[in-house]
Amino acid sequence: MAFLQKLLKPSRPAAEKDLAEVQDFAKSIGGPDKLSPWDFAFYSEKLKEQKFKFSEEELRPYFKLENVIDGVFEHARKLFGLKFVKANDYPTYHEDVMTYEVYDEASNDFIGLFYADFFPRDSKRGGAWMTTFYEQGLFEGKVMRPHVSIVCNFTKPTNDKPSLLTFMEVQTLFHEFGHSLHGLLSQCKYRSLAGTNVLWDFVELPSQVLENWTLEKESLDMFAKHYETGELMPKELAQKIKDSSKFLAGYSSLRQLNFATVDMKWHTTLPEDIGAIDEFETEATRETTLFDKIPGTNFSCAFSHIFAGGYSSGYYSYKWAEVLDADAFEMFKEKGLFDEAVAKSFKENILMRGGTEHPMELYKKFRGREPDPDALLRRDGLI
Ligand SMILES: [Zn+2]
Repeated sequence: MAFLQKLLKPSRPAAEKDLAEVQDFAKSIGGPDKLSPWDFAFYSEKLKEQKFKFSEEELRPYFKLENVIDGVFEHARKLFGLKFVKANDYPTYHEDVMTYEVYDEASNDFIGLFYADFFPRDSKRGGAWMTTFYEQGLFEGKVMRPHVSIVCNFTKPTNDKPSLLTFMEVQTLFHEFGHSLHGLLSQCKYRSLAGTNVLWDFVELPSQVLENWTLEKESLDMFAKHYETGELMPKELAQKIKDSSKFLAGYSSLRQLNFATVDMKWHTTLPEDIGAIDEFETEATRETTLFDKIPGTNFSCAFSHIFAGGYSSGYYSYKWAEVLDADAFEMFKEKGLFDEAVAKSFKENILMRGGTEHPMELYKKFRGREPDPDALLRRDGLI
């Protein structure tokens, strides 16, 4: 609760400013005098288009799938000394699935097997995720290397048209690849404590931290080349991506704090102290809502994350994971995006250790101190 309160302080006024900006803009283009919650997404998207003057479609030509894959492998090489070697003789469940042997570049030690299943099929679930077919660790008396997979749903290339990703898909690939590194680099004894088998609010650190590189021109220059002309993404376009990433940061932050706070209050209040559900929710969200309550609505009743999805009293972990990744990435920003010592420390203290020690201890070994929530507020432009 102290953590949520700390974020609330700067988020609330920033969110009020965001709402006022969208409200003024909506009025200026003939929208309603007073926005309702269901108007917000529409008018904020219009404002975003007008403010940053670029569309997702403009970015696509710079994100040919093959180039982005090479880019993500190059990040793994520069940061963690990994080499991905295409291998064709492993059995797969579908011909689209690609396999790579992963080696440590310096020692040539075998690190693991990496599967990539990128394209949609009729029988395939939507979305993107990382999974393991075989976790690193003890198996029949021997410590074995892992088999890790990422699954996505990117447009499949055809003979005359390559697969061109949106920026969000590029971030998705980096995100799932970050989880994969957590699985691949694991050096643990027991599988139940290896790789991504960590406490809930720590598992998104390796994935989210990797997304940060996609906002940096130095990184984009490693792979964001126009698929026809080969030219690098122009500086102005890269800057727009970065600027637009802070758009409505206050509003988004307050929205997550609203969910996190009501979750925490439901799960920390004695049942006998809870009267009417509606009153409880109204009271619990007093500081974190901007719109007037609509009579007859109550989102607690539909909040499946916390009553059916396993996030009970853990919704805060969305914001906490952002703190971890923002604070970790600040260290790279301070010392260099590909600084050898920082990357080595991240690899040895976080990526290799799975859940063999408490996350706070692992983090402190990497960062030299506890994570600083201000790092997130700085990144979002809220302080
Ligand atoms: Zn994730």
